Parts: sequence; structure tokens; C-alpha cells
Amino acid sequence: MKPPPFDYHCPETLDEALALLAEHGEGAKVLAGGQSLVPMLNLRALHPAVLIDINRLPGLDHVSLEDGRLRIGALARHRAVLESAAVREASPLMAEAYPYVSHGPIRNRGTLCGNLCHNDPASEMPAVVLASDAEMVLQSASGTRSVGAGDFFTGMLSTAARADELLVEVRMPQAPAGQGAGFHEVSPRKGDFAYVAAGATMTLDGGTCSGVRIVCAGVGDGPHRARAAEDALEGAAPGEDAFRQAAEAATEGLDPGEDFHADADYRRDLVCSLTRRALADAASRCH
Ligand SMILES: Cc1cc2nc3c(=O)[nH]c(=O)nc-3n(C[C@H](O)[C@H](O)[C@H](O)COP(=O)(O)OP(=O)(O)OC[C@H]3O[C@@H](n4cnc5c(N)ncnc54)[C@H](O)[C@@H]3O)c2cc1C
Repeated sequence: MKPPPFDYHCPETLDEALALLAEHGEGAKVLAGGQSLVPMLNLRALHPAVLIDINRLPGLDHVSLEDGRLRIGALARHRAVLESAAVREASPLMAEAYPYVSHGPIRNRGTLCGNLCHNDPASEMPAVVLASDAEMVLQSASGTRSVGAGDFFTGMLSTAARADELLVEVRMPQAPAGQGAGFHEVSPRKGDFAYVAAGATMTLDGGTCSGVRIVCAGVGDGPHRARAAEDALEGAAPGEDAFRQAAEAATEGLDPGEDFHADADYRRDLVCSLTRRALADAASRCH
């Protein structure tokens, strides 16, 4: 299929891009890697009057670790993030999860920031940044604001970013020393969107689990943090029984929805088994 007609702008500066967003507002869509937007256009699921291509904006492709903070710019491609030493050093969870994100050609064009703005419920990275206390830096012609990941993902394919705002950077605090992480998913083929994914981080503090984070994707209309499961494990000694109990707690009250890929019972089973495995891996990688 072909996309509906649109006007195309390819600004050369951030100011120019923000002015275009302010001018066109709800009628405009930002084009980053195009790996989610273009299929949506071709399926006629979106009808923007204007596309604002940000690919020529300078200085937005950074992936860096500065003063204990990981910074990933709007034009950092999936491949650059996947292969970044700064990411491996600052975020064991992102490093574990990234190999599950899409296929080679899509990684060459797609961006982390575009992925977060798209907020597909089966996408891995929204869950990762939710577990990591990330901040989304949103810039418009009228100023800059920072939104925590917990407030950024507002529902199926939607976020707190206004139509006149660009997500210019994701910032994450460096993981605490010694943190271990695990991430598992089940998908139809490697690199496809997950039916369900689960990730976990922890440190071992005096032989007990500390700073536990457990997140899932594919279980609702956006990333899910399993707080009851985190509470069940916080301060407990690591081990099979404790991980199984926490994984079961992750399914309590969970309404994961269903589609033709997987019904709700199957998704709950996946949450339980994938969370248990992610926790076991996280504990075994603490140092
Ligand atoms: C076959 C296939 C398999 C895939 N598998 C996976 C997978 O397993 N896991 C996964 O997570 N993803 C997967 N994807 C999606 C892929 O990760 C996309 O690259 C990503 O979702 C969108 O990034 P993008 O840079 O291509 O954004 P685009 O497609 O350009 O934009 C996506 C949306 O975000 C908006 N946007 C983009 N950048 C910004 C910004 N800086 N500020 C404000 N708004 C912005 C756009 O307006 C649009 O609404 C897959 C895609 C394909 C085609």
C-alpha cells in the first residue's frame, strides 16, 4: 500500500524543526528511523498533513556516559545503542534486552527515542527505561521539560509528549555497582515483537536481594512494573523458592489482555516463567 499524501520538511537545525512542530502541531508527525511510522502510514492508520524528518539535525546521535548518567540522543540508532560500551557499563538491563529488539536492517535505521515515542505495548525498551528511572527530555519552541518514564507512557501507542515536542534525549542514572540483570522473552521469531517479555535487576546486599526491579512487556497497553513482585523479593535471600514466589506475585491481579497470538492465561504463564528466569539470571550476575 502507499501512504496518504503529506507535505515533507527536512529541517537542518533543531530550532527549525521545533518551529515546524509549533506551526503544524497535531497535523504533523516526526520522522526518525521510519521503521514504525512508515508501516503505519502505508496501512493508512495515520494521516498526518506534514512529516518533519529529523535525520539531518546535528548533534543528536550521541550515546554517552557522563558523570554517572547515560545519555542517548534522538538520532541514536538501535545498532549504535546495542553496540555501545557506555550502555554495557551503565545499564546491564538495557544491554541484556537490546539483542531482542528487531532485525539487522531495522536496527540500522530505527532509533531508541522513536521506539519509546511509538510505545508499542510489546516493545522491550519502554519496559527497560521504566525499570531504570529514566527521564525523557522533551523540547519545544517554548522550552524544555523532563518527564519520568513512569509518567511518559500513557497508554497504547501514546505518551506524554505533546504534538509540538521532540524527544531530544533519554537520560538514565548509571546502575548501582554490582547490579545484575536478566531479560527473557517469547516471540514468534527472534527479533520480532514479544508475546511477553520480562526483565529484572537487583543487587545483593549482605546476601539479600536489594533494589529489585521487575518489568514486563506484552501484558497490557504499555510497559508494566510488577511492584508486588518487587516487594515480595526485597530483603529476601536469593534462591529458587524466593524467585518462584516473586514470579507468581508478578501475575497477581494482572489483566494482560489477549489477541490472536496469545490468550490471557498463556500470557500470565509466560510472565511467571520469564520473570523467574530473569530473576535467576540477575542474581547470578550480581558481583
Ligand atoms: C519487522 C519489524 C520488526 C520490529 N521488531 C521490533 C521489536 O522486536 N521490538 C521493538 O521494540 N521494536 C520493533 N520494531 C520497531 C522498531 O524498533 C522501530 O525502529 C521503532 O519502534 C521506531 O523507531 P523509529 O526511529 O523507526 O521511529 P519512527 O518510525 O520514525 O517514528 C515512530 C513514532 O515516534 C515518533 N517519533 C520518532 N522520533 C521522535 C522524537 N525524537 N520525538 C518525538 N516523536 C518521535 C514518530 O512521529 C512516530 O509517531 C520492529 C519494526 C519492524 C518493521
